[in-house]
Amino acid sequence: MNILLNKSLKKLNQYGVDVNAKYFVEITNEKDITELINSEYIKKEKILILGSGNNILFTKDFDGLVVKPNLLGKEIVKEDEKNIWIEVYCGEDWDSFVTWCVKNNYQGIENLIDIPSSIGGAVSQNIAAYGQNIMDVVESVKAIDLENGNSKTFSNKQCKYTYRSSIFKSKEKNRYLITSAIFKLNKEPDDLEISYFERKSRYGSLEEELKSIAQKPYTIHDVMQAVINQRGKKLPSTKEYGTCGSVFENPIVTKEKYISLSKEISELQSYPVEKLIYRKNINELEQEYVKIPAGRVIDELGYRGKWYGNVGMFEKHALCLVTNRKATGKEIYDFLKSIKKEVKKKYDIDLNYEINIY
Ligand SMILES: Cc1cc2nc3c(=O)[nH]c(=O)nc-3n(C[C@H](O)[C@H](O)[C@H](O)COP(=O)(O)OP(=O)(O)OC[C@H]3O[C@@H](n4cnc5c(N)ncnc54)[C@H](O)[C@@H]3O)c2cc1C
Repeated sequence: MNILLNKSLKKLNQYGVDVNAKYFVEITNEKDITELINSEYIKKEKILILGSGNNILFTKDFDGLVVKPNLLGKEIVKEDEKNIWIEVYCGEDWDSFVTWCVKNNYQGIENLIDIPSSIGGAVSQNIAAYGQNIMDVVESVKAIDLENGNSKTFSNKQCKYTYRSSIFKSKEKNRYLITSAIFKLNKEPDDLEISYFERKSRYGSLEEELKSIAQKPYTIHDVMQAVINQRGKKLPSTKEYGTCGSVFENPIVTKEKYISLSKEISELQSYPVEKLIYRKNINELEQEYVKIPAGRVIDELGYRGKWYGNVGMFEKHALCLVTNRKATGKEIYDFLKSIKKEVKKKYDIDLNYEINIY
């Protein structure tokens, strides 16, 4: 285990914010974990577990120990006629895993392509997109309790998954270091998720995209390609911008509130509270509460495509903050706070941050 002092985190966070960690350690094997658990640092210092830095905003130097788990590898742990169970270590790249699964015709995560993430980050954040949620395929998660060094296996239920969150992101944040996760996927891909639909979109639905590139019966490779095409049309590329994707969660409002907001914000969509799935024929008003797209609300306030110094809101997606990688963490945070304030003032909606702010 090699503890580094005053380590720059600029290249380890997607916004490219220029901050330092007082202490920094990369964990690549079991021995590193044991040494870390037995070290003085773990007892004395404030801890932050860092994945690939795609959902994290540093507003200042981190005055403690940043632990970067980078355990690699994956293996098939069980298989029957219908399903396959694959254990993947925390430092593996999420996108490479999705591509590998699609290549092998293992279904269940093809819509989650192009989400920049480590396995550990994806499991902690409960990533979701285009109608699929990682929580639906997580069988169990192995983690080390940094408070006492014990290993623990969390069942899916024990992960306490909620919208874009889990026990690892909320209550026990930075306590459990996820070492690996087991995913249960389908070997007989017959249940493709292609119902994703956005009401105010210039880019068409997922199904329309599929029609333009493939013929029925669609394969999971077709679905993955359609998602790649759709994402490419509307989301910022990390090659071009400092970005963590969506910065706020989509707010939950009462049915009455949604009806009144719809009068002010044209084509305001809503969808069920339980899952982030936009579907065409959903009767949202059967529900007491609905979720509404924060991006549409921010768009209505005129932020889409506008830059304020080194930060702005992406021109094709008003929920994605972008920077030129010269912005300070404070500059980004101040911008986010001003949007949050304006949304509250104009629409009386409390936006919650999706990104992790330190
Ligand atoms: C262009 C772009 C598009 C995006 N699109 C989507 C999208 O469609 N859907 C979506 O859900 N997200 C999306 N995101 C957000 C982001 O990709 C995810 O949140 C991702 O899972 C973050 O993973 P990470 O490894 O970078 O984690 P980090 O940002 O490093 O950390 C995120 C959280 O996970 C914790 N963590 C990381 N690794 C571990 C571990 N091993 N053990 C315990 N805790 C850990 C951290 O402490 C932190 O709380 C997008 C981001 C970008 C940049």
